[in-house]
Amino acid sequence: MARPGLPLLRELCGWGTWLRMAKLYFNYSTMNAGKSTLLLQAAHNYEERGMSVYRMTAAFDDRAGQGKIGSRIGFAREADTFLPDDNLFARIEDVMTDTELSCIFVDEAQFLTPDQVWQLARVADDLGVPVMAYGLRVDFQGQLFPGSATLLALADSLREVRTICHCGRKATMVVRKDDQGNVLTEGAQVQIGGNETYVSLCRKHWRQETGAQ
Ligand SMILES: [Zn+2]
Repeated sequence: MARPGLPLLRELCGWGTWLRMAKLYFNYSTMNAGKSTLLLQAAHNYEERGMSVYRMTAAFDDRAGQGKIGSRIGFAREADTFLPDDNLFARIEDVMTDTELSCIFVDEAQFLTPDQVWQLARVADDLGVPVMAYGLRVDFQGQLFPGSATLLALADSLREVRTICHCGRKATMVVRKDDQGNVLTEGAQVQIGGNETYVSLCRKHWRQETGAQ
């Protein structure tokens, strides 16, 4: 027999961590919008209240050295790295046998696999720990990253981190340039260790730069 009042009663009484409501958040933007800075600030807010957090970033992000989340304005903190085959639910559950975590922070979340996004959703749902993912929405060809597509589909809360184009409009796109400043329209979605740079643009100026559409 259904007892619709019971879950509410349990939640009001605070029985068990399995009843805690936790969300999966996706904070997305284009390049150079300051996502890592926001992540580090948000994680710091927990830590200064004496709460433990778990920081992760993609293993092939070497901007601030392996295993670090670095912001362009100079802050950096240690972080565990993830590779495509890692089971993030199992890893976080394992960390939580020793440490009570208040929040999970994931930088470079566009590099998560769709499976890993589901694992993080289970961290929120089944472990009761909020997950804050920060990442790029689209690549230099204007295509969603698979991890970002899954986050857009599954996240409870979406927030756009805004940055602007040189024209003053909101930048939503990014161009990849080689070391001569030429715009590249072909190549792998993920480029590791190259000399490319990225510039964030509004859609109109991205179309002009890439000659697309
Ligand atoms: Zn523009």
